[in-house]
Amino acid sequence: STGDIKILLLENVNQTAVEIFNGQGYQVEFHKSSLSEDELIEKIRDVHAVGIRSKTRLTEKVLKHAKNLVVIGCFCIGTNQVDLDYAAKIGVAVFNSPFSNSRSVAELIMAEVISLARQLGDRSIEMHTGTWNKVASKCWEVRGKTLGIIGYGHIGSQLSVLAEAFGMQVLYYDIVTIMALGTAKQVSTLDKLLSESDFVTCHVPATEDTKNLLSAPQFAAMKDGSYVLNASRGTVIDIPSLIQAIKAGKIAGTALDVYPHEPAKNGAGAFNDELNSWISELVSLPNVILTPHIGGSTEEAQSAIGIEVATNLSKYINEGASVGSVNFPEVSLRGLDLDQENVVRVLYIHHNVPGVLKTVNNILSNHNIEKQFSDSSGDIAYLMADISSVNQSDIKDIYDQLNATEYKISIRLLY
Ligand code: NAD
Repeated sequence: STGDIKILLLENVNQTAVEIFNGQGYQVEFHKSSLSEDELIEKIRDVHAVGIRSKTRLTEKVLKHAKNLVVIGCFCIGTNQVDLDYAAKIGVAVFNSPFSNSRSVAELIMAEVISLARQLGDRSIEMHTGTWNKVASKCWEVRGKTLGIIGYGHIGSQLSVLAEAFGMQVLYYDIVTIMALGTAKQVSTLDKLLSESDFVTCHVPATEDTKNLLSAPQFAAMKDGSYVLNASRGTVIDIPSLIQAIKAGKIAGTALDVYPHEPAKNGAGAFNDELNSWISELVSLPNVILTPHIGGSTEEAQSAIGIEVATNLSKYINEGASVGSVNFPEVSLRGLDLDQENVVRVLYIHHNVPGVLKTVNNILSNHNIEKQFSDSSGDIAYLMADISSVNQSDIKDIYDQLNATEYKISIRLLY
């Protein structure tokens, strides 16, 4: 029953998550900070779920001690603090929250579009140092200008709606065909987007294909006096080429939130030219807005992360649904009514080898299989089946037989 579920929450994960877990009736242990490896090993032994942020390292060494663990929630975007492959190998699904901060990024970009158009960064820096410099030359309204969005995913499409509300025209380029929101238009080539946009903003993932997606030839293809924004990943823009394009007067300004090498810690002197050799040149140029990877950093995004991850964890614990997991085959079935008698949901995580379904269906075949779904990802596969017309002794029997199969990684029966 849900009252037996123990969940360990570290690193002060958002209260929205605690409320959801309490609402489920789970036993919640909450810590404001991370734990030392020894403490973690001790605490992780009995729990069914653990929630962390970026500081807790869930290594193979730590995870080996987890006897009842079924799921890990990363209440953040990144998941490299967890040994994802090892977790999958022991049948533990891992979830994160990639999209809770999309709106925050889109709003930052709108602010920067206007800031670049009005040279706000420079005017503010001047005022801070006592200079009154009232100018209108090369300052523009954004109304009627064209925003070119590269990557029309969660952030790009959200931005599209905001930009149109300001009276901008929106063009977007994406490797897949995506339905336009409002009156935005998808263009078929990156060059078309570059040659027609007054502002170009990147919202693509870091992949081999997006490495230096904007470099010297792309800046050359842009309109004279246009602007470049990047709050996606630091690999997407070739910054030395951007510097040359600004110096040549081709690009009228840029707003960057992400960099090829970002400091691990906050603090004065952290963003230095040991990390990125071009920094001193970049900061000497006009109309350059630099922010420390804060696109998604808002209170709203934090609480949305709490809700998104806690909901995914609860769904995985209560129903076995692994959709959205980062290390697991994505499986779900609708409509499990656990109040109904004589029904059991089988969750069977197994090695992805030939012969499994035959064996499993042999075991289940004496009963009525209402629904079944299975999927694999690498060496791991996950089968979910809803079985009806079973009594308590059938359920025990199914468990014992599945448990004895050679392919088994882990089993849960929900009833
Ligand atoms: P998403 O996956 O929803 O959308 C990405 C889009 O890019 C998809 O539509 C995809 O088809 C498209 N795409 C992929 N490769 C492409 C290519 N070569 N050319 C054109 N389009 C391509 O992602 P999202 O949530 O919108 O995030 C976009 C980026 O923003 C990611 O890199 C993410 O890491 C980053 N991000 C940054 C911050 C921040 O704080 N600055 C916060 C959240 C996300």
